[in-house]
Amino acid sequence: MRVKDPRIVAALPELGVELRPGTSLAELTSLGIGGTTDLLRITKHDAIPELLNLLDSEAVPYKFLGGGSNLLVGDHELPWLVLQLVSPDPDIVLEGRFAQVDAAADLGRTVTFCAKNDLGGMEGLIGVPGTVGGALRMNAGAYGMQIGSYVRQVKLYRAARRRLETLEGDQISFEYRHTSFAPDDMMLAVKLELPSKPYREIIKGIRICNEKRRASQPLGQKSAGCIFKNPPGASAGRMIDELGLKGLHVGDARVSDRHANFFVNAGKASAKDMLTLIADVRERVQKSFGVILDHEVVVWNA
Ligand SMILES: Cc1cc2nc3c(=O)[nH]c(=O)nc-3n(C[C@H](O)[C@H](O)[C@H](O)COP(=O)(O)OP(=O)(O)OC[C@H]3O[C@@H](n4cnc5c(N)ncnc54)[C@H](O)[C@@H]3O)c2cc1C
Repeated sequence: MRVKDPRIVAALPELGVELRPGTSLAELTSLGIGGTTDLLRITKHDAIPELLNLLDSEAVPYKFLGGGSNLLVGDHELPWLVLQLVSPDPDIVLEGRFAQVDAAADLGRTVTFCAKNDLGGMEGLIGVPGTVGGALRMNAGAYGMQIGSYVRQVKLYRAARRRLETLEGDQISFEYRHTSFAPDDMMLAVKLELPSKPYREIIKGIRICNEKRRASQPLGQKSAGCIFKNPPGASAGRMIDELGLKGLHVGDARVSDRHANFFVNAGKASAKDMLTLIADVRERVQKSFGVILDHEVVVWNA
């Protein structure tokens, strides 16, 4: 989709928004799949209500992009704009055991920055790519922990009320890869409360998690992490593996040989290839185990 409306084009500089026309989402997502659209890069949180009112008044559809590490985006020209926050400098400010972090901040860098200041708890998130905003939306987690446990406050744009708001941690529910945020809420910043721990101890935990990832995940290949959520009490990867589906492929979309719940783009996979592979695996799991797998990957398809 192209921003053509002269009223919108003229307003963008004043709102601190940079327009990048015809951006390829394949280049902004870890799967390396996706068509093109205009990208709006937002530098001022305060301008967001005005920007979104303007887009809504002209009925221009849009989606929020974080680091693109949990997304499968459709092929060809996309029928909506993409909005992305630009990280301010600094994007993390510490105050005692609290870390005030911008949603555009890189998650891995946030974990190591806090570690260097003797704040731990998030060791399991090392190696989870993407932004802090994406991690909040997804309630990212691994190795027995999830980011939601440390959230004390979230600053967000609430589309339903068309205004910026601050929610306290106990007003938000964080479940396995699911949160109570509305689908059109836009996370802007978070206050985390983290346990004090000596740096040496945190680094030890980080190394263990890194080794576990290296041993089990196809880290050198293009993926979006796990494609399916684990059903209660079971492992999606184990079920797919038990069916002998590692290596199954549609074009260059392939079930990883290393981790059966990671589907990789081994070359020039299209969204259509990947969606066909996902539907095929889902159907085989349902037939054999009677379990309907839910997507963990977020699909943006026209
Ligand atoms: C190799 C690899 C390993 C991974 N391992 C893990 C793991 O161990 N655990 C885990 O939980 N995940 C894992 N993931 C998945 C992914 O990294 C996480 O889900 C991550 O938190 C997504 O963040 P992102 O910024 O990339 O979000 P994106 O992929 O950009 O977006 C994901 C969703 O969040 C929304 N979103 C993003 N930013 C905002 C915002 N500011 N406001 C509102 N909505 C927003 C998007 O609209 C979209 O719906 C892995 C991915 C890869 C590639």
